[in-house]
Amino acid sequence: MMNINKMTFFKHQTAIVESNDIGDGSKIWHFVHIREGASIGKNCNIGKSVYIDTGVEVGDNVKIQNFVSIYKGVQIQDDVFVGPSVVFTNDLYPRAFIWGDEKIVTTIVKKGSSIGANSTIICGVTIGDYAMVGAGSVVTKDVPPFGLVFGNPARLKGYICYCGKRLNQVKESEGEKVIYECECGKNVEIVFDSFSLVIE
Ligand SMILES: [Zn+2]
Repeated sequence: MMNINKMTFFKHQTAIVESNDIGDGSKIWHFVHIREGASIGKNCNIGKSVYIDTGVEVGDNVKIQNFVSIYKGVQIQDDVFVGPSVVFTNDLYPRAFIWGDEKIVTTIVKKGSSIGANSTIICGVTIGDYAMVGAGSVVTKDVPPFGLVFGNPARLKGYICYCGKRLNQVKESEGEKVIYECECGKNVEIVFDSFSLVIE
C-alpha cells in the first residue's frame, strides 16, 4: 500500500476495496465495501460499514459517516458531509423482478452540502451547494443552494450559511436577490427565482 514516491490512502484490513480509484490521503475504516468502478477523491473519510456501489463518484474532502449506503447513480461533490446511516436510492419504481441499469436515476449532492443522520435521499434530486438536510429527513425534491430542509417529506425551512448556521439577517435585497449577513461575518446571496424556493 505504501509507495515511497507517492502519498497514498489508508485502508483498514477489514475493508474490501475493489476500486483502484481512491485519492491520496483518504481513510477507509472497518468493514467498508467499495465496489469496482467507484471513484473516491482525496482526503475523504469513509466510516465503518459504509457501502459504495460501482459507478458512484465521490469528490475531495468528503466525510461519509458510519453505515451509509450509496448506490450506483449517485454523485457527491467536494466537501460534502454525509451523516451516519444515510441511505441513497436509485430506482423510483423498485420491483424485485424488474431490474436493470436503465432504471437507475441520477442523484447529485453538490459542493459543501450536509446530510443529517438517518436521512433518506430519493433518487433524481439535486441537493444544492452548501445546503443542509436535517436529521431523519426524506428528501423527495431538489434542495436549492444554501437551503435548509427537513422533515418527511423534507420541506424548505430557510437558508444556511457556509458555517452551517441559519441565516436570519437580511443585509440587502433587490428584486429576487437577497443578501443575508451571518453572525460569522460572511454574506450569502440567495436568488428567489422559482416556485421551488418558497419557504414552507
Ligand atoms: Zn456563517
